Amino acid sequence: MKNVIFISPPAAGKGTFSKYLEQKFGYNHLATGDVLRERVEAGDLVVKELIDSGKLVSDETIADIIKDKIKTLKGNPFIIDGCPRTLVQAKMLNDMFKEEMITDVAIIKLDIDLNVAIDRILGRVICSCGRSYNLNYEALKPKKEGVCDFCSSVLKKRTDDNKEKITKRFIDYEVNVKDIVQFYKRCGILYEVNANQEPSKIEEVIKGIING
Ligand code: AMP
Repeated sequence: MKNVIFISPPAAGKGTFSKYLEQKFGYNHLATGDVLRERVEAGDLVVKELIDSGKLVSDETIADIIKDKIKTLKGNPFIIDGCPRTLVQAKMLNDMFKEEMITDVAIIKLDIDLNVAIDRILGRVICSCGRSYNLNYEALKPKKEGVCDFCSSVLKKRTDDNKEKITKRFIDYEVNVKDIVQFYKRCGILYEVNANQEPSKIEEVIKGIING
């Protein structure tokens, strides 16, 4: 199975599909957003301010996170979710993969319309274990209201999940992603997936990509 990097605007489902690959096929999963939220929980006010205002953290911070974790990802196929968000990060990942002799990587770009993203964001609740649920979609609701199906922790709304912030993050993403797409098209490893569809259909497309 191929290693996977998800690039997508907010709420396209990269967290949900990462968890699906982790549970179904034993992927190792690194979500840069989860690592950053852990830092905020531990008291990092600089990162908190950036996340809360819908801005990106620095490329250097992301490079440190990936450098720290990349060796732990090897062994099983892995998913990196939430990175790259800039061309600098895409090039940095490529260099790290070369150094670590990691090949067979699929870049899966999840495409979603802004109105669908807003609808999903407004219903999203997350768990500290990294899982997310959606109260606006029957299939994505937790079994018991307000608690995680897997670890029973209390579900919370993300501080950056509101209409104004998502619109900013979405527009910033569209600007940055252009260069990233060109870069990966030249590498010949980019797969573009319509993420406005039902989750089960998207899972089928992703399965085809990782086994292709
Ligand atoms: P996510 O959980 O992927 O939606 O990320 C939440 C927030 O964390 C983003 O809005 C950014 O502020 C920050 N973040 C996560 N990953 C990155 C990254 N690769 N580069 C810069 N900022 C990031």
